[in-house]
Amino acid sequence: MALTGDGRLVDDKFVDGCRRVTILGATGSIGTSTLDLLRRNPDGYAVEALTAHSDWQGLAALAREFRAAYVAIGDERHYQPLQQALSGTGIEVGAGAGALVEAAKRPADWVMAAIVGAAGLEPTLAAIERGVVVALANKEVLVCAGDLVLTAVKRSGATLLPVDSEHNAIFQVFDFAQVGAIEKIILTASGGPFRAASRAQMAQMGPAQAVAHPNWSMGAKISVDSATMMNKGLELIEAHHLFQLPQEKIDIVVHPQSVIHSLVAYTDGSVLAQLGSPDMRTPIAFTLAWPARMASPSPRLDLAKLATLTFEEPDPIRFPSLRLTREALAAGGSAPTTLNAANEVAVQAFLENRIGFLEIAEIVERTLETLPNEVPESIAHIHICDRRARDAAMAFIDRPSVGQRAY
Ligand code: NAD
Ligand code: MG
Repeated sequence: MALTGDGRLVDDKFVDGCRRVTILGATGSIGTSTLDLLRRNPDGYAVEALTAHSDWQGLAALAREFRAAYVAIGDERHYQPLQQALSGTGIEVGAGAGALVEAAKRPADWVMAAIVGAAGLEPTLAAIERGVVVALANKEVLVCAGDLVLTAVKRSGATLLPVDSEHNAIFQVFDFAQVGAIEKIILTASGGPFRAASRAQMAQMGPAQAVAHPNWSMGAKISVDSATMMNKGLELIEAHHLFQLPQEKIDIVVHPQSVIHSLVAYTDGSVLAQLGSPDMRTPIAFTLAWPARMASPSPRLDLAKLATLTFEEPDPIRFPSLRLTREALAAGGSAPTTLNAANEVAVQAFLENRIGFLEIAEIVERTLETLPNEVPESIAHIHICDRRARDAAMAFIDRPSVGQRAY
């Protein structure tokens, strides 16, 4: 099994008994869906640690409900109220970046990495270094430091299970014993809320329209990434690392219904796909129960009712993020780190109404053009590249020339 650090396919200790789980990013969309599944399976899982960034009330309520042993709040300003809210419960409380890493180091045998952005890198790595099962939703971790993360997986013997619906689909139909027989993988993309919009129409779109995804209910950042199609570009890089394939073997096809979650094409002409309703509880349940299966309440597919599934070529002219991510992956080195950091900064600025929709990709492109490409040799080096890209992107946001580029 390629994603298992030491080549294990099945580890018996995960089949029976109660799993201790930790959720990094427990208050978010993925975290909430994970907890929904745990709530339905109270005998199968016990919660070790939960984390959140600023929603200390939500975190306190979850900690009490699931009787967590430890909670960590990223924003240290919320330490006091969180601690007060949990006083007398015996639940340990931590705050700040170190506490997020501490949560990941706690003795869980399954960790959900569902923080958004590069902020999840250190906690996710801490979980990986413990050699346990890590369910990875936080794709930015692989985009910004894929080679180093995969090296850590191999070194520790951790099992990395993809949560992202496309990668989870591929994982389910990818024959790891016959990688040579795999011609290519095909990532499906919904096309997002602006799939049929012209560039002129996109220029008028604000945060409310961009986060209104037609099929999926998700956090704000990934929703904007879906609207720019940067999400699919990040997923291309994620797939490259997870399945160890060159980008020439990774295709993207727009499939507006989000029913086929992705496909693997074999040399004999067979194409295997995984289908399901667009509900993240299906891929999360796959990772929670792995290598077994568990029940999920996701709506069932009614193929006759669906009647039609459609497919389109992606358009890299209207969605320059698709081109930028392919270029960054081809350039290698720190280019994906730079792309990811600049995108995080630009998406945040867009959500704050400081830049227009089309300027997101433009800022990413300018940042990539401006900064030197280096080969990141350590996580500390990744942080330097990430910081530099954030600073450069912020400078472009504050500069009035943004918005002048024609695509
Ligand atoms: P979200 O915004 O709903 O939740 C993010 C979580 O991370 C929250 O618990 C938040 O408190 C925490 N967080 C945010 N910033 C943080 C920081 N700086 N430090 C520590 N914690 C922080 O996001 P989401 O939609 O749940 O997505 C989480 C990750 O999963 C993202 O990487 C996203 O790309 C990926 N993903 C999400 C979906 C989906 O359907 N939501 C699907 C596939 C992949
Ligand atoms: Mg996805």
